[in-house]
Amino acid sequence: MQKDELIKRYYSQILMDELSVEKQEMLSKKSITVIGCGGLGSPLAAYLAGAGVGKIKLVDDDTVELRNLHRQVFFSENDIGIKKVKALSDYLKNLNSNTTIEIHDKKSWELSYDNIKSDLLIDCADNLRTSYDLNRVSSRERAAFLTASIAAHLGQISLFSNDSQHCCLECVFPSEGELEANDCAEVGVLGPSVVLVSSLQSLIALDYLLEQKSHSNHIYRINTKEFLINKNKILSDSSCKIK
Ligand SMILES: [Zn+2]
Repeated sequence: MQKDELIKRYYSQILMDELSVEKQEMLSKKSITVIGCGGLGSPLAAYLAGAGVGKIKLVDDDTVELRNLHRQVFFSENDIGIKKVKALSDYLKNLNSNTTIEIHDKKSWELSYDNIKSDLLIDCADNLRTSYDLNRVSSRERAAFLTASIAAHLGQISLFSNDSQHCCLECVFPSEGELEANDCAEVGVLGPSVVLVSSLQSLIALDYLLEQKSHSNHIYRINTKEFLINKNKILSDSSCKIK
């Protein structure tokens, strides 16, 4: 993109301390993988495409359903029956034609690491199996991993940079036995609560991609009923099973 076009398009965000023309150009060379294109993933992908991230890989094998629309407002009634990766990809291409979109109509664990490799793996899935599988892969590959979830009024977000000392999801929440799906359809959730968590997750992703990394190895717990956010540092667990 020409510099004058870039300044015109991203003028309001370039005014922020976090950004500059050089950092905006850096962002256009960054790639992310969004695993799960529902309530968390679709707004996150839209905000990061809008912000000028260069390449976005979308991973999801779900189809848009009527029961999704109360919270997944980047889809419309016209998208019902269409694969989420296709509907979201069309939306993102219309939003920012400078962002390259790659779609994978599969579950993340059906893909090789090469398929999902990028500057930041972003877990927006609605089940623990995906989160723990991505945690293991990102730890093994030393890939930065940003995971979020929400059930009812409680959301949580963690970023593991996987750059030096081991620190991962298992360190803070050791998994036990068979991991089951725990999706919003079973627990219940309000649309504005989901997008609040997605918005914070998008800010953490931008911070990481702009190489500020102030959120690495922290956990944020968000209570969307009481409007509380707690931030805690995550310590490496010497007995972590994937260390
Ligand atoms: Zn660990």
